[in-house]
Amino acid sequence: MDQIVRHLKSSRRVFLASHTQPDGDAIGSLLALGLSLERLNIRTALYNESLIPAVYRFLPGVAAITRHFDSQADFDTAVILDCGSLKRIGAAAAAANKIPVIINVDHHVTNTGFGHFQLIDTSACSTAEIVHRLIKQLATPIDKAVATAIYTGILTDTGSFRFANTNSAAFSICDEMVRRGVTPSEVAQHVYGTYSMGRIKLLNLALDSIEISTNGKLSLMTLTRQMLRETNTLPEDADGIINYAKRIQDVRVAVLIQENGNGESPSNGSGRFHVSLRSDGTVDVAAIAAAFGGGGHCNAAGFNIEADMGELKSKIFDLAQKI
Ligand code: AMP
Ligand code: MN
Ligand code: MN
Repeated sequence: MDQIVRHLKSSRRVFLASHTQPDGDAIGSLLALGLSLERLNIRTALYNESLIPAVYRFLPGVAAITRHFDSQADFDTAVILDCGSLKRIGAAAAAANKIPVIINVDHHVTNTGFGHFQLIDTSACSTAEIVHRLIKQLATPIDKAVATAIYTGILTDTGSFRFANTNSAAFSICDEMVRRGVTPSEVAQHVYGTYSMGRIKLLNLALDSIEISTNGKLSLMTLTRQMLRETNTLPEDADGIINYAKRIQDVRVAVLIQENGNGESPSNGSGRFHVSLRSDGTVDVAAIAAAFGGGGHCNAAGFNIEADMGELKSKIFDLAQKI
């Protein structure tokens, strides 16, 4: 930690990035650290390959996040946030890999340990928790903008303090963030309270697609591009939908197969499908995802795959036999 703080303080131009198809933690961590480094008069570039989901566009400073890697900028340091591997940032990974010093800040159990410095804590509820620690060491003020970013990261990664990663730090940091100006109901209204009609219709199609394995332990939800077209929605609108499949009684593992965009830059990394896995705590889905070249946490993981839908479904139902 001390070395990282010293290094950041002596940096002049820092590239910060988080994973494609960002969640609240990926965006919140990026903004919180980016805003804090700017307070130290360090020039920063905040990068995310994907469009920022509409529900996170209220976050202060979000307009500064760019989808373009500035190859002219002479970055001396890269900070990669909420990514188990460098390639999770998407197409800019090769360019970022050439930045002289790479700092890896993350909480995934499958983290590869990439970079020159690592700030990895798999017991942290979110990357935002680790970023909060880092900001304390940088000794920059936590104003309402930074507080909102950290609060949103923790709120969303813990599923509103419901998932197994919810720890005491989640509450103590959020308590501090509220004292620093965050209004929980405002954040909740933005993040959870404003669904488009299309999103509700997509939820309907997703619920209708649920299939259960013969032993009842695995549920499978499927979202196709056709469903997104039909409801005029975006891949981000599927965020959180998998939790409905996880709630079903006796289900240990919930799976969501999401068909990726066609021709356009892949919305979820490479491969035709993005597969999300959620566990009730009795099955390590990070290990399953890793076996398919992906990663994540014990209870929430994912991977990308190039496959035929029928084959993929039968592979997934085969998994159900072993749980
Ligand atoms: P998701 O199912 O996309 O919501 O992701 C669940 C968790 O798994 C998140 O912590 C992701 O960062 C991680 N994850 C998802 N897809 C991948 C992947 N292709 N490689 C590594 N980690 C992933
Ligand atoms: Mn994330
Ligand atoms: Mn995270």
